Amino acid sequence: MKFLSEETYKKKLVDISNYMRSPLWWRYERRRLALPRSLRKVTDMIFGKYELWRVSKAVTKVLSPRFARSRTLLEIDLTYVCSLKCKGCNRSLDVAPTKTNISLEEIELLIKESIERGYRWKGIRLLGGEPTLHPDFLAILDALRKYRDVHKPKMQITVVSNGYSEKTKAVLKKIPDNILIENTSKVSSEQYDFAPFNNAPIDYSEHKRSDFRNCCWITKGLGMGLTPQGYYYCAIAGGIDRIHNFNLGRKSIPEVTDDMYDQSSRLCALCGHFSIYIPKSTPDDGTSESWRRAYEDWHKRNKA
Ligand code: SF4
Ligand code: SF4
Repeated sequence: MKFLSEETYKKKLVDISNYMRSPLWWRYERRRLALPRSLRKVTDMIFGKYELWRVSKAVTKVLSPRFARSRTLLEIDLTYVCSLKCKGCNRSLDVAPTKTNISLEEIELLIKESIERGYRWKGIRLLGGEPTLHPDFLAILDALRKYRDVHKPKMQITVVSNGYSEKTKAVLKKIPDNILIENTSKVSSEQYDFAPFNNAPIDYSEHKRSDFRNCCWITKGLGMGLTPQGYYYCAIAGGIDRIHNFNLGRKSIPEVTDDMYDQSSRLCALCGHFSIYIPKSTPDDGTSESWRRAYEDWHKRNKA
């Protein structure tokens, strides 16, 4: 098996830190990765404890949530169709696959709303699932390029692809030069570097004082999400809502004044990315009780 190398991961961190407004976390993460593995375990333990303190309700009340959602970066889950079923996929496509897409018309609506409301996008990333498998992928890319060229010439459009199937490889070749391709070059469904996404912090006593509006770096560093369920403070949250069925997605671009705390207080509570701190009682397969129940319910709902 061949996986994303640590070198590639480090490079990715550098790329991401380039468009973070407050790169403190990235400086920490890059220094952390430069440490030998044994020392890294110790620093992770110390940082995990610090995190538990930082996200506590009492500290959050004084300092405010640690990560505010982005107003300028957007990730679009174009389709949940994927050529792989990676274990621990943070869109749940390994255990709860679906073929839902965002239509070309919905993208045109996003563009229309962005123009009318003067939204200042700095970056839009297209992902999924595997975005190149969307039946209208090239037409969607074209619509976004036209929007960028006329209204936001500095906006970065990125396609995030697993680079896996022959169809994907053929589509990637058709993408124009002025679009960035982030090819994770996956070669199988085994991924060594995935965080235990299905490990809900809310299932552990260690997090009983946590304020989940604190989010993680993803909402700030990668941006808010447009998913088939609507707009969320991050695209992963939309995927969590698809399984847990709270129906919290916004139907149009959220106002800049909207912190979306009603979403993060419920959805970050279920997300394994919330904290580096891993409780000792974590199940071996990394799937905690809330997720086990949610997947059972999802399968019941989707059988009918
Ligand atoms: S390639 Fe990405 S979207 Fe597809 S199953 Fe793997 S992690 Fe999920
Ligand atoms: S913890 Fe999960 S749901 Fe919350 S911001 Fe991070 S990735 Fe999104």
